[in-house]
Amino acid sequence: MPEKKRKRQKGRGFYLGGMFLIGLVLCLIVVALTLVQRSVPYTVREGRLALLSEEESLRLKRLAETRSVRPGEMKDCLLVTEPGDEASEQARECMEPILAQMKLLFEVCPSGELTAARLSECRNLILAVTQYQSLSEVIDPIKTWVEAGGNLMILYPPEVSGAFMTLFDLLGIKDSGSENQMVEALHFTRDFMIGGLARNYAISDAYPSSLSVSLTEDCEVYVESAADYPVPVIWRRQVGAGTVVVDNFGMLDKAYRGFHCAAYSLLGESCVYPVINGASFYVDDFPAPVPEGDGAYISRDYDLSVDEFYTQVWWNDVYNLAQEYGFPLTALLIEEYSDQVEGNFDRNGDTSRLSYFGNMLLRAGGEIGVHGYNHMPLVLPNFDYQDKFDTYRQWPSPEEIRKALKEVFDFTENLFPGQELQVYVPPSNILSREGRELLRETSIRTIASIYLGSNLAYEQEFEISEADGIIDTPRVISGYVLGDYMMLAALSELNFHFVSTHFQHPDDVLDEERGAELGWAELFSRYRGYVQWLYGSCPAIRSLTGSELAGAVQRYDLLQVSRSETEEGLTLSLENYFDEAWLLLRLNGDRRLESVSGATYRQVANGLYLLSCTADTVVIRYQEGGNS
Ligand SMILES: [Zn+2]
Repeated sequence: MPEKKRKRQKGRGFYLGGMFLIGLVLCLIVVALTLVQRSVPYTVREGRLALLSEEESLRLKRLAETRSVRPGEMKDCLLVTEPGDEASEQARECMEPILAQMKLLFEVCPSGELTAARLSECRNLILAVTQYQSLSEVIDPIKTWVEAGGNLMILYPPEVSGAFMTLFDLLGIKDSGSENQMVEALHFTRDFMIGGLARNYAISDAYPSSLSVSLTEDCEVYVESAADYPVPVIWRRQVGAGTVVVDNFGMLDKAYRGFHCAAYSLLGESCVYPVINGASFYVDDFPAPVPEGDGAYISRDYDLSVDEFYTQVWWNDVYNLAQEYGFPLTALLIEEYSDQVEGNFDRNGDTSRLSYFGNMLLRAGGEIGVHGYNHMPLVLPNFDYQDKFDTYRQWPSPEEIRKALKEVFDFTENLFPGQELQVYVPPSNILSREGRELLRETSIRTIASIYLGSNLAYEQEFEISEADGIIDTPRVISGYVLGDYMMLAALSELNFHFVSTHFQHPDDVLDEERGAELGWAELFSRYRGYVQWLYGSCPAIRSLTGSELAGAVQRYDLLQVSRSETEEGLTLSLENYFDEAWLLLRLNGDRRLESVSGATYRQVANGLYLLSCTADTVVIRYQEGGNS
């Protein structure tokens, strides 16, 4: 055999032997790591925010709901609507929950009933009216009232009629085009909303929703369209002792509440409202058996099986990102993926994967909740899937659901002893009333479905349910694609509730509709981009697990705020203050925060402060003369 060839063969033998050894060592490392993962105990993170007692929080919730505005009482706000008008109805549906959740004392008044006397009973007036002819009698009194210190907000662009044009001088409008303009993207001209300056925000569902106007010099524009000839979207004008805010956005869906809340906060000298302060990241279907689905894009990009991809790539990335930014993950366990809805719910004996991932997540400060025994939503034969879910079945009876829940709770408690299972996420965000009642029989205290509902989805608000005491902690955004609509919704909620809730599924990477074709590298870079945007724009936000977020929602929902204006600022009396309360405070004009007692504070945007209350009375002093 020629020398050269022998050498090559020898080299090859060495190569193969080396590979075998390396492989053996790697296998041993994996076995060792799995054993280590199993034996190292996890502990509940110190300082974890606990849930308040269910009985007490439900009692206080019901008490707060029974309170109403007394006749003649000075109100924070009067919301004027035009009954029967579609746009006005939509604006009322959008603004009422905003005002209620800002814990403002407000009343709704039909446009025909607005009088000068009613103006004198409110600090702020919101006009959610399309045809200003119905207000022609009170236009002059409104002008006088603003001059004298009243604050007026136009909630959405109305029909440009003669009656509306008589308000132009008050609103700072020099001229208006006859047709509405399409705002394709928002541009923040100043540090107004948290996260606003990070980029321009494209509007995916844009339509000609904004008035095309030119403004007088004394208007301060906060948001405008990102266009060569920008359309002013939100502006403020000082008029005598009062202020005017025009919210020319015109998009009145739930996803945009934060913009209208922010516009409202520009009225008057200052505005203060309670917030949740929490960022939570949910991982649905995790830990769970290897997800089913098409691994085509994984084999396109990686020389790995789907199972290996999840262990070696996906989990590494997801886990490390959470570590890097210091946020805990909340995982929602699935025991197995059958479509079984009756009979004996057998124990899944293959637990090594679930225990490996679950323990690692718990040791990093995360939390495990329940997604289900399998992925069948908790619905009975009376529920109609409307042909949208071919593979889903209904449960024949409550008893079968009960049995399956018992199995998955026992399974999880066995696997992760000492973990209290408090968080439930409904599979595919579908849940029936009966399913919810059955969850009440378990240790579940909070249900995390979705904030922006569509079709069959179980839509929620951030609140304690008055009906059953369960805490609703909806997820606002999801997945890895994180397109324009999600970013706007995220920006909106960051400024409205000071909250970020995101959920991902391991199988997002397999699903074309959820972006699989982009490949994991691109999907992960978008997810990372969101995390960077969130913590970069808002370092003050707390990272919480699902049950901690529920605790934060309880405190936020129960908190009542009475505001009284003083010579030097504001005094707040907090009712139902337990151990923490968070408020956002906006100071308008060139007011500067001088001191706060009863709370510590931190600036989160120009003139916007996050207050962490330490007592039930908070005294805020501010001065005119430049925001710091
Ligand atoms: Zn799921």
